[in-house]
Amino acid sequence: MSNPRLSGRRLQALRAQVWARSPDKRCRLCGDPVQLGYHQNHALAYQIAHHTPLAHGGTDDLTNLAVVHRICNLRKGHGWRPTDSRIW
Ligand SMILES: [Zn+2]
Repeated sequence: MSNPRLSGRRLQALRAQVWARSPDKRCRLCGDPVQLGYHQNHALAYQIAHHTPLAHGGTDDLTNLAVVHRICNLRKGHGWRPTDSRIW
């Protein structure tokens, strides 16, 4: 995560909560299943991503966080563009 405000125990807690809230455990960016157990540097590792980026007024609230693959999160860069909103 590039978000400096999310780290340590808070990040771990949020990861667990976002995972628990996800109904299908699918990546919100590509739609494929996300699995736990990958090394954190693996392309398919589970990460949480902000729907609305913090830089655009988003928060760390659970409603603004989603399950994604690490590689998808990296490709996404800083947030979704308006044209990508259909994936939500
Ligand atoms: Zn993905």
